[in-house]
Amino acid sequence: MDEKMIISALEDLPLGSISFQQTVASTNDIAAAWALEEKEDFSLVIAETQTSGRGRSGRTWISVPGASLTFSLLLRPLSSDPESIVNKYTALGALAICQTLQKRYHLSPQIKWPNDVLLEGKKCCGILSEAIYRGEELEGIVLGVGINIQSHAVPHARELDFPAGYIEEFSSEPIDRLLLLKSILINILTLRDILHTEEFIRSWEQYLAYRGQQVEIISPAGELFQHGSVMGIDSLGRLKIQPDDGEIEFIEYGQIRLRPVIAR
Ligand code: ATP
Repeated sequence: MDEKMIISALEDLPLGSISFQQTVASTNDIAAAWALEEKEDFSLVIAETQTSGRGRSGRTWISVPGASLTFSLLLRPLSSDPESIVNKYTALGALAICQTLQKRYHLSPQIKWPNDVLLEGKKCCGILSEAIYRGEELEGIVLGVGINIQSHAVPHARELDFPAGYIEEFSSEPIDRLLLLKSILINILTLRDILHTEEFIRSWEQYLAYRGQQVEIISPAGELFQHGSVMGIDSLGRLKIQPDDGEIEFIEYGQIRLRPVIAR
């Protein structure tokens, strides 16, 4: 993969600037700096590897040259964006990836709310969305995506606290990273037009992992915050959880992590 190949593969998409680099600290950091410059909506930065790839809460995202697909998109805010947007843009990335994996590669992806895409229960893609402000003014949303394509993209088990997989583990055909990228970008472009509609929420909900199953919601420090079964997603993008006793709880996007309760 090089910049010329990428530009040629994506030439018919309405993108802004495109930058490809072998090694960066974090593609999200580059796109965040672009947000404060004059870079256009839908500018794209792709890297083979990151030296400080980030997950949520300061955790690390690992990408491996040739075996992962790692990119960040700069999206300029829409006038219709509500105040709490990071959840929606995270879902935009997750849903676009799921649609590609299902429709193009005939796989059965699921979204581990809020920000991971699973194949057969294994985390194959992570999404990190960040809102970039100048003072009080929202300048852009950075949508960062890391996808494990080949086996060596998967970190060693000691670096993981959730099982990880890679797309070729489940696909009957080898994955061309540029075709995968192009399809995801097309889906993001299309879905962005319906981002603040009920149709978007319903499409997102169709891919929700653990529906009807018991999960634990844990805090970044690992404390149990809630326990119950997954009911769906409400119109604000909150996760609906039915505790064993009591009313349905609406879990706000935040630093919480979801874990399935494995029946013994
Ligand atoms: P969790 O996935 O544990 O519920 P999370 O969704 O908040 O939490 P992120 O912050 O999105 O996790 O991702 C960082 C975590 O993902 C790391 O702590 C590590 O366990 C795991 N991880 C890092 N790189 C990869 C990768 N290439 N594939 C799968 N998992 C990874």
